[in-house]
Amino acid sequence: CGIVGYVGAKPALDVVIEGLARLEYRGYDSAGVAVLADGALATAKRAGKLVNLRTALAEEPPPAGTLGMGHTRWATHGPPNDRNAHPHTDCSGTVAVIHNGIIENFAELRAELEERGHKLSSDTDTEAVAHLLEDELASAGGLAEAMRRVCGRLEGAFTLVAVHTGDADLVVGARRNSPLVVGVGDGENFLASDVAAFIAHTRDAIELGQDQVVELRSGGVTVTDFAGRPAEVKEYHVDWDVSA
Ligand code: GLU
Repeated sequence: CGIVGYVGAKPALDVVIEGLARLEYRGYDSAGVAVLADGALATAKRAGKLVNLRTALAEEPPPAGTLGMGHTRWATHGPPNDRNAHPHTDCSGTVAVIHNGIIENFAELRAELEERGHKLSSDTDTEAVAHLLEDELASAGGLAEAMRRVCGRLEGAFTLVAVHTGDADLVVGARRNSPLVVGVGDGENFLASDVAAFIAHTRDAIELGQDQVVELRSGGVTVTDFAGRPAEVKEYHVDWDVSA
């Protein structure tokens, strides 16, 4: 339902939680975050309102990192419990994914993954993407290329955001029939399902086009199509007020 991604110099957890709070008006049934710190991914997720996640994070604070992402879920596949909340990770815990929308061919993808020995631990359509990325990362040149390959296999409507322990300055996003906006900052960049999530930090934005993948680094943003061809991006300024 709500998506926030961040890479920069600020504590990512604060930026992400604040962004999720700004998207709360959309309605959701669970929430979760992932932070990349010291080469490892820390995730926390809870069913219910954001306050439940905040309480869990206060009880067990994750290590401070400057790259992270968060999600508020509106369950379509699997009940709204802690386990099905996003982010979802691969078997090795090195890739984390959040997702809005529905992956129509998830049953087929899950069956294929299980045949290859993957152990899936949730009921969601989303988790298949984390495991597919894990497999592609073995031969792809990086997370963005792995994401492009995986997107080519997905049917349905999706916004996906992923992070990988192998690259501490990279958040990758992708979209088809579901919105994703980049917030362009100075030494920091943002990804969100809605500009409201980052408007407190920047009003310079890029609307991702259909079937595009974005590579978000603290120093810049690169956009391609699913085949890896560079895409033209048009930056715009958000000059209207967003109430939250
Ligand atoms: N289909 C996914 C799930 O049920 C994502 C739902 C959403 O858009 O929040 O977990």
